[in-house]
Amino acid sequence: MKIGFIGLGIMGKPMAKNLLKAGNDVVAFDIIKENVDYIVAEGAKSASSAKAVAEECPVVITMLPNSPHVKSVVMGQNGVLDGASEGMILVDMSSIAPLASQEIGRACEAKGVKMLDAPVSGGEPKAIDGTLSIMVGGDKEVFNEMKPVLEIMGTSVVLCGALGAGNTTKLANQIIVAGNIAVLAEAMTLAKKAGVDPETVFQAIKGGLAGSTVMNAKAPMMIESNFNPGFKIDLHIKDLNNAIETAHGVGSPVPMTVQVQEMFENLHFDGKGQHDHSGLAEYYAKISGTKIGD
Ligand code: NAD
Repeated sequence: MKIGFIGLGIMGKPMAKNLLKAGNDVVAFDIIKENVDYIVAEGAKSASSAKAVAEECPVVITMLPNSPHVKSVVMGQNGVLDGASEGMILVDMSSIAPLASQEIGRACEAKGVKMLDAPVSGGEPKAIDGTLSIMVGGDKEVFNEMKPVLEIMGTSVVLCGALGAGNTTKLANQIIVAGNIAVLAEAMTLAKKAGVDPETVFQAIKGGLAGSTVMNAKAPMMIESNFNPGFKIDLHIKDLNNAIETAHGVGSPVPMTVQVQEMFENLHFDGKGQHDHSGLAEYYAKISGTKIGD
């Protein structure tokens, strides 16, 4: 199949590479030339704009930072909808606000383009392995048509509801991940300050009820003071802002999310927005005077 891919950052690169490995033709576009060059070296073809990608491809995938980027790439000048033919399918795999997905979906519908929102969880390692969890919103028929393509990039591909439901599910995921990382940093800082080695604490508790995928991935990073992304603090701020806005819209209070958001904001203003979200350990180091790592 010929698949357009727009947005070849940390996640988009390995996802597009897996599509190529599975025998698809990929037509790529990104505003950063080196990102396009990388995937062209892997066998993709480059296009000069989002419009040019859509002119060539019956399926276009977008993997961009946030709602404004997806809106401009799809609905803006020289965007996907300028080049799309009727019947084209747009699969937006970015993590954006559910209301933005629905707005983009309406613009697609007006042009006879079908759309799914299909954000992912799992980060760069799972994008490389093709084992992402993919949360999808949209029509069942379009979902069934795209499922084999999504299964190249992920092992769990679940239809969560109508358009926007994929991103609502992703927001729930991001709230849980943020809260987990924050309490992990809090607990490890306490252990260190009380004189118990955080590595020993990790080994002792990871198999018990407190153990989690988050703990396995992030405790070693905190212990090594390695905050290379991974998933950047600034992207998590974006997700929690979308979560808070969505929660306020439906009247569902999110006091825990707001607390962690303030910690992330503090790190952002300390110049750490590009650090991995396990950098919440750096917030605790600042307020406690104790680093988890050496
Ligand atoms: P990234 O910043 O590494 O990549 C985004 C890419 O989009 C960049 O290459 C950028 O140049 C490109 N881009 C931006 N504006 C563009 C435009 N107008 N036209 C064309 N290209 C444009 O981000 P990422 O880490 O790959 O994340 C992408 C999405 O996936 C985000 O919504 C993020 O929240 C989500 N996500 C990321 C991770 C992770 O661990 N990194 C995990 C799950 C979900």
